Amino acid sequence: MLKDIKQFVNIWKDILKERISKLGKTPKLVIVQVGSVEASNRYVKNKVKDCAEVGIEAEVVNVNKDVSTVELTKIVEKAQKGADGIIVQLPLPQHINKEAILKVVDKRKDVDGFAKDSKFKPATAKGIMKYLKYCDFDLEGKRVCILGRSKTVGEPLAKMMMDANATVTVVHSKSDKMAKDFYTHHSDLIVSAVGRLKFLNCYSIHVPVIDVGINFNEEGKMVGDCFNIEDRLVTPVPGGVGLLTRCALLENVVEAASMTDTGSMARLREKIEEIWQKGE
Ligand code: NAP
Repeated sequence: MLKDIKQFVNIWKDILKERISKLGKTPKLVIVQVGSVEASNRYVKNKVKDCAEVGIEAEVVNVNKDVSTVELTKIVEKAQKGADGIIVQLPLPQHINKEAILKVVDKRKDVDGFAKDSKFKPATAKGIMKYLKYCDFDLEGKRVCILGRSKTVGEPLAKMMMDANATVTVVHSKSDKMAKDFYTHHSDLIVSAVGRLKFLNCYSIHVPVIDVGINFNEEGKMVGDCFNIEDRLVTPVPGGVGLLTRCALLENVVEAASMTDTGSMARLREKIEEIWQKGE
């Protein structure tokens, strides 16, 4: 059964605070935000608030929405220099080449885990995996149906779940029409990461559902992909996967800071050895 996400997130944040206190430095996250879309403003504000709560320094670099890809590349390169982690807040304006931007993000600082060969796991998938562990949901041998196969959510989550020995079926927009109905009714766990209002009718579903979707209903209220929900079985929106994603991101920043710390320690050791050998 699904456990309280808020409670889990509080425990997770306490662990992070403890890890940060032992780092011997304040980790720094830089968030590059292009333009000023209402939803992005809210996400960025929440990330800054989370960082302050656990002891991470957050800096937001606001960039004009008319910036070119080349200019943005330079801004990202410069911004990541003094930071442990960097996020380029998505979505970017249509005219920007997202792939080109993600390419210049330093893999050791890519705390969103979006770039190819990133050192970090994508935050949403990581958050869901940690939460399932907290719920004592053992994935080994379980049938999981993931709705959606995006590079940032569905695909990495499917990989992580397969690594945990689950049998994973991924349903996407080109799947046979019957596939969604069949697999959602023959699985032990469902994850809906599609982003469509009233996408998954949970009336006849009696297994846990992780609702990743973010949609806005007719009244402008934020809701997930699911409807006809039984609270114990479906993660809430808001106050569900979003909180897990945010916490996983914080953990990635702490890991990035630990890595850079190791790097500087190693460099210091090398320097000492050099001086020692020179007999200085
Ligand atoms: P995305 O890149 O748009 O991917 C959506 C996926 O859904 C695609 O794989 C697409 O299939 C599939 N899909 C679309 N229509 C479908 C249909 N009729 N049947 C089956 N599959 C269908 O979106 P995303 O970035 O993965 O995000 C998904 C949702 O989660 C969005 O609402 C987003 O806002 C939300 N989200 C929430 C969080 C959080 O922290 N709460 C984090 C990330 C994302 P194709 O691949 O065939 O196009």
